[in-house]
Amino acid sequence: MDYEAVIGLETHVQLKTKSKMWCGCANEFGAPPNTNVCPVCLGLPGVLPVANEEALRLTALTGLLLNCTVTRYAKFDRKNYFYPDMPKNYQITQYDKPSTISGWVDFEFNGGLARVRITRAHLEEDVGKNFHFDRNSGVDFNRAGVPLMEIVSEPDLTSPDMAYEYLNALKDILVYGGVSACDMEKGMVRCDVNVSVRPKGQTELGAKIEIKNMNSFSGVRKALEYEIPRQIEVVKKGGKLIQSTRRWDDTTGITEEMRTKEHAHDYRYLPEPDLMPFQPTDTWLEEIRQRVVELPLARKQRFMRDYQLPMSDAQTFVWDVPLGTYFEGIARQAKNPKAAANWVINNLRAKLAEAQVTLPDLKFKPAGILELIDLVDSGKISTRIAQEVFAEMFTTGEAPARIVEKKGLAQVSDTAAIEKLCDEAIAASPGPAADFKAGKTAALNFLKGQVMKFSKGKANPALAGEILERKLKG
Ligand code: ADP
Ligand code: MG
Ligand code: ZN
Repeated sequence: MDYEAVIGLETHVQLKTKSKMWCGCANEFGAPPNTNVCPVCLGLPGVLPVANEEALRLTALTGLLLNCTVTRYAKFDRKNYFYPDMPKNYQITQYDKPSTISGWVDFEFNGGLARVRITRAHLEEDVGKNFHFDRNSGVDFNRAGVPLMEIVSEPDLTSPDMAYEYLNALKDILVYGGVSACDMEKGMVRCDVNVSVRPKGQTELGAKIEIKNMNSFSGVRKALEYEIPRQIEVVKKGGKLIQSTRRWDDTTGITEEMRTKEHAHDYRYLPEPDLMPFQPTDTWLEEIRQRVVELPLARKQRFMRDYQLPMSDAQTFVWDVPLGTYFEGIARQAKNPKAAANWVINNLRAKLAEAQVTLPDLKFKPAGILELIDLVDSGKISTRIAQEVFAEMFTTGEAPARIVEKKGLAQVSDTAAIEKLCDEAIAASPGPAADFKAGKTAALNFLKGQVMKFSKGKANPALAGEILERKLKG
C-alpha cells in the first residue's frame, strides 16, 4: 500500500517593533544578558501589561498580506505552564479570538504554483532563553516579552520540499511587508512541524506527530525527510502511531520522542484579565490597508509580464528590491527592457559591489543606461566598447555619447577604413586565410578577431566579416 504525508506548520516570527509587547523595554538582539528587562517582562507581582499597538498593527498587516480576515474582536488569553525562561508562569497569547483568521499563501513549487491555507496568524509574546554552562545554568530575559506572531497553516503540505518552499515564501512575504526581519541566525523565525501519514486516498488524517522548535528551514526539511519514512515504516509493520511530540537532533539526524498525548500539557487557558479585548475601528484598519505592499510573487510575475524578462532576471529583482526599483525606473522608458535588465544585473550590480557603493551614490543618471543601449543598438559602438563606456560613466558620471565622442570610441563603419584593416589582417595571417579558402569557415572568426584587434575594438564586426569573406572568396 502507498502512503502519503500530511504536514501543517506553526511558524513563530518575532515582530519588528522598537519595544516589547507589554512594556517599554527595547526589542533588540545581542544586548548583554538581562539589560533589556523591567518588572513587567520579568513577570514581577503587581505589574500590568500595556499592549504594543505597532505589534497589533503588524499582525493585522500580516493578515492582509496572507489573504486573511482581520477580526473585529480579538482577545488575549493566558496559557499556563511552568518553565524557568518564563517567570510569570503563563504566556499571554490569543487562544479562541485571534487577530486574523482564514487566509492562504501562493508560492512557486515544482514548476507551478501551490497554495497553502492559513488557519490563523495570532499575537503572543516570546519567552526568555536558557543557557547551560559547565556547573550551572542561566536565563537571559532580554527576549522575554518580545512580540511574537504565530502563523498556523492548514495541513495542506505534502512533502519536505513543499514545506521548505512554503517557509521561504512566507519569510519573503514577511520581510517585504516589513513585519519581521526574519533573521534566522538571530532566532527570529522558529517552527513547530506537525506531520502524519495515511494510506493514499484516505481522507481521514493520521495521528499527528509534532516536532518542536525548529530554527532553520533546511532543518525542517531534513527532519521531515527522516520522520515521514519512519512513520510509514511503523504503520507498514503493523504498528500504531500515537499523537506525540518529538525533538529533532541535528547532529544525529534523527527525531526522538519527548512526550505522548497522555502526558500532554493542560494549559488551562483563561482570558487575560489585565488586557481589554481589541476591537479595531474602520479608520485603524484603513491605515493598515495603506501599508499593504506588492508581494514577492506578484512582483516577479509583473516583471516577467511587463518587461518580458526571463524568470531568473525577475527573481534577481525580487531578491534585490532597490535594484529592481532602479531597473523599473529605466525600463518604463526603454525600447529594449531586456537589454536594460542585462546592464543593470550584469554590469551595474558588479560595479556597485566592486566599488562598495549603493544606488543613491551613483554619479550617472539612470537615463545613461538607456543612452548606452541606444548607442549599441544603432551600431554607433560595439558591445565591447560599451563596456568601456559604462565603466567610464560609472566613475565620472559623464553621459555615454560624450564619452564616445571625447575618447573617439565610435564604431568604424567606414568601408574604406575597414577594407584596409582587412587587407592587413589577411597579409599578417596567411595560414588562416588559406584555411578559409580551403573551406574551413571557422578560420574567418580568427581573421575577424585580428581586424577587431587592429581597430582597438572599434571596427563594426559585421561589416568586417562581410568584407573579409568577399576578399577571400573573390
Ligand atoms: P494543536 O491544537 O495541538 O496545536 P491544531 O489542530 O491547532 O493542533 O494544529 C496545529 C497544526 O498541526 C496545524 O498547522 C495543523 O494544520 C496541523 N495538523 C493538525 N492535524 C494534523 C495531522 N493529523 N497531520 C499533520 N498536521 C496536522
Ligand atoms: Mg500547537
Ligand atoms: Zn520590560
